[in-house]
Amino acid sequence: MAGRAPAGPPRLRNFVGGEFVDGGSRFTKVSPVTGEPVFEVAEASRSTVDDAVAAARAALRGPWGRMGERERAEVLRRVADELERRFDDLVTAEVADTGKSIAQARTLDIPRGAANFRAFAEIVATAPTESFTTVTPTGGRALNYAVRKPVGVVAVIVPWNLPLLLLTWKVAPALACGNAVVVKPSEETPASATVLAEVMAAAGVPAGVFNLVHGFGPDSTGEFLTRHPGVDAITFTGESATGGAIMRAAADGVKAVSFELGGKNAGLVFADADLDAAVAGSVRSSFTNGGQVCLCTERLYVQRPVFEEFTARLAKRAGELAYGWPADEATATMPLISHQHRAKVLGHYDLARAEGAEVLTGGGTPTFGDARDGGSYVQPTVLTGLGPDARTNREEIFGPAVHVAPFDTEDEAYALANGTEYGLAATVWTRDVGRAHRAGVRLDAGIVWVNTWFLRDLRTPFGGVKASGIGREGGVHSLNFYSELTNVCVDLS
Ligand code: NAD
Repeated sequence: MAGRAPAGPPRLRNFVGGEFVDGGSRFTKVSPVTGEPVFEVAEASRSTVDDAVAAARAALRGPWGRMGERERAEVLRRVADELERRFDDLVTAEVADTGKSIAQARTLDIPRGAANFRAFAEIVATAPTESFTTVTPTGGRALNYAVRKPVGVVAVIVPWNLPLLLLTWKVAPALACGNAVVVKPSEETPASATVLAEVMAAAGVPAGVFNLVHGFGPDSTGEFLTRHPGVDAITFTGESATGGAIMRAAADGVKAVSFELGGKNAGLVFADADLDAAVAGSVRSSFTNGGQVCLCTERLYVQRPVFEEFTARLAKRAGELAYGWPADEATATMPLISHQHRAKVLGHYDLARAEGAEVLTGGGTPTFGDARDGGSYVQPTVLTGLGPDARTNREEIFGPAVHVAPFDTEDEAYALANGTEYGLAATVWTRDVGRAHRAGVRLDAGIVWVNTWFLRDLRTPFGGVKASGIGREGGVHSLNFYSELTNVCVDLS
């Protein structure tokens, strides 16, 4: 991956105008599993970011800017083919960065990278066009239609939890629409993005269309990029507070933004639910990826007749989730991304206790007696006993923790679920079909899952309400963010 330093961990570099470059200082990325260094990463300085934006702008003036959408769709398919060819390298990179299980990387993260490119190749090639006829002042007719054009240079800034999945979710539609991108992965997950740069080159994506800059956020690579006058639009996934900072940076240049932000997602378990499915589904929705998915459930509200049974079964299953090395197929949990993030999550566990929560399982850190003691593991945790106004029930934890509380009526359940500043996802477990549809209307959330979780069709709109985001991506909604529409009106008389 992008060359080896003479000694020490492999070195990852920036990718600008089709070349791997250093540019600026370096930082060390450590393994969440053991705390040992895994990569030395070249941090992109302000001038490297300038070069990346200039390379992107130049690419728009070249053959890429003259391609039709069917040709671009063909390029996207070649990228998907190449991602599949590099499958094992991508799994290795993603596991090294995040400590997630190899089984999850193989079944979720890496396949979705290729799937994102295939989906947007199809979506852009079959996107509907608009045309209208209008009566002219002379009584003749005029024809109106909309021309879809690229926005220009798009900055793509993504977090560390599902690195390749979230990056390709934005890069694929941006390229499908004919833009050039400058991407900044999280400083915690530089590796799979670096393999993606190699994939782009091997798939014949013209130099400058895809540029990669490594580094941090404020006063660093991320801010250099968002404030850059050569950037036309910013697509960002990460914390709501960071979204606010990026919005302020974007304001001066009046740049378009699309934000996928934090959540404090609720799950509602009604007494008529299939309880086996609700327990299994809630274990998944709260603990997948170590609870580090924006869509994870951190608040469960359970109808009183089944509250005791559900909560006991959930806590038992959470306590049994298997720790293991990432390479072990049976591993069901994973470390948090960093010691810094672990300190934040453990702070939430302490806060919950201080607020009076009962800890049903977990609440601390595991010990292994091996190298994993240097990693950033915490125990999967189930809490109960707090009211809806407790900070534990309002602030995003972004770790393997869920609070469970009872409710009585359907109205009360919606009020509890809607009672935070966030509105990303909600999950409902019920056999009542009317309630399933009512929940979709009543819940403040960009996505409402009924009797399932994390089932995605890439053609559907994805995003959050309230502090969980601005705009929607997915299907034609992505095309609308990553393109400008010009109305052409021709008087036919
Ligand atoms: P983060 O906001 O700290 O960082 C995300 C990215 O932004 C990183 O690449 C970081 O370097 C960069 N960044 C930070 N400050 C910046 C600044 N001032 N200017 C420019 N770039 C800056 O988020 P994180 O800790 O990496 O990720 C976890 C968060 O992401 C959680 O809140 C989670 O809910 C959210 N998330 C949301 C979704 C979604 O689809 N809604 C998906 C995944 C994660």
